[in-house]
Parts: sequence; C-alpha cells; structure tokens
Amino acid sequence: QATKNRVSQPTGQLIVFTGPSGVGKGTLLRHLLGQHPDIQLSISATTRQPREGEENGKHYYFVSRPEFEAMVAQGDLLEWAEFAGNLYGTPRKPLEHMIDRGHTVILEIELDGARQVRESLPAARQIFVLPPSVEELEARIRERGQDSDDAIAKRMARAQIEIQAASEFDIQILNDDLELAVKQLELAVFTQPSTAAHQ
Ligand code: 5GP
Repeated sequence: QATKNRVSQPTGQLIVFTGPSGVGKGTLLRHLLGQHPDIQLSISATTRQPREGEENGKHYYFVSRPEFEAMVAQGDLLEWAEFAGNLYGTPRKPLEHMIDRGHTVILEIELDGARQVRESLPAARQIFVLPPSVEELEARIRERGQDSDDAIAKRMARAQIEIQAASEFDIQILNDDLELAVKQLELAVFTQPSTAAHQ
C-alpha cells in the first residue's frame, strides 16, 4: 500500500514546513502522517538538549557543538541555522536517499533554513503555518511547559520575525481549527502544481 501515492511520481518531492515555535507544526504533522504513513519526516541534527520524552535518532540527532560544526565543515548538511541559542540542521544523505526512493519528505525547519532550501532547491514546496494571534502563540508555548522564561522570550522574539516572512512561502495555513488546518496541509502536500516542480 506504500506505493499508492508514488504511481505518477518517479522521484519523491521535498516539502518545507515552517512556522513559529509553538504554532502546532508537530501536531499537524502527526495528523498528516497518521493518514499518510508513506510520508517521511527528515530527522534534524541539533545541539539543543533533549526535552523530556525526546529520543535520539527519532525526534532529533542530539549532537555536541563540535560534532555539529564538523558536519557543517564536511558539507553533510543541506541547510542549517542557529535558533534560540542552538544549532539545527538537515542531514543531506538520508534526505536524498528517501527522495530517490520516491518518498515525499517533509523538512520541519525554521525561517533561515527554509530560505537556504529555497535557494538550493527552488522546486521544493514551501508551507508556512500561522497562529491565530501572537498572544495565542505565547499561551501555547507556556502551556507546553518545557521552555524556560528566557527560552520563551527568545522564541517569541523570533516568532514575530518569522510571521512577517509568511508571504515568502508558497502556501500559508492558519492553525486555528485543527481539522481544517490538517485538510489544508493535505491539499498543500498532494496537489501537483505543474510538472515543472520535478527536476
Ligand atoms: P525545537 O527546539 O522547538 O524543537 O525547534 C526550534 C526550531 O528549530 C523550530 O522552528 C524548528 O522548526 C526548527 N528546526 C528543527 N530542525 C531544524 C533544522 O534541521 N534546520 C533548521 N533550519 N531549523 C530546524
């Protein structure tokens, strides 16, 4: 059944999925992947400390700063950025492998990384998730209860900048009504704009 969505797709497509911290990207992706288990999520490398319940190799590859810097120097990362004091990046090899095998792959990354991918892989579709309001966003981050006040302040400052860049993206999704947002995400991922999107 995993080949169902691949019939007209010799190689897989890459989707960039961006939006401010706390906007609910993870929840939206969980729902999308629940319905489309053939979609793959790229696993990023990060120097951030694991949060409770996060596993190495599943949520992230948790690495030291020198390890991360070595990956950058060796050209192992498709893109990378600093976010709220930590480094995050997309390992290139596993991504290329999944695309070659015909999978749709989603990169859940922040704004700087999305801009780098736009430069290097312009055919990748870029989706941005918006919160109902900035107040609602801060409430969601606080509810998650996993970030210090300092980390929350950094994330909120960054959120304002990211939201202002939403119009750079091909598609914007408002995450207010979850069910509706998941539907919009599904459409955004599966609607083929034109054959030119495939290189
Ligand atoms: P968190 O610490 O909340 O897991 O992630 C913080 C931010 O880093 C989020 O906006 C997330 O999308 C972004 N992020 C996660 N992985 C990557 C990556 O590989 N590259 C870039 N540029 N951003 C990432």
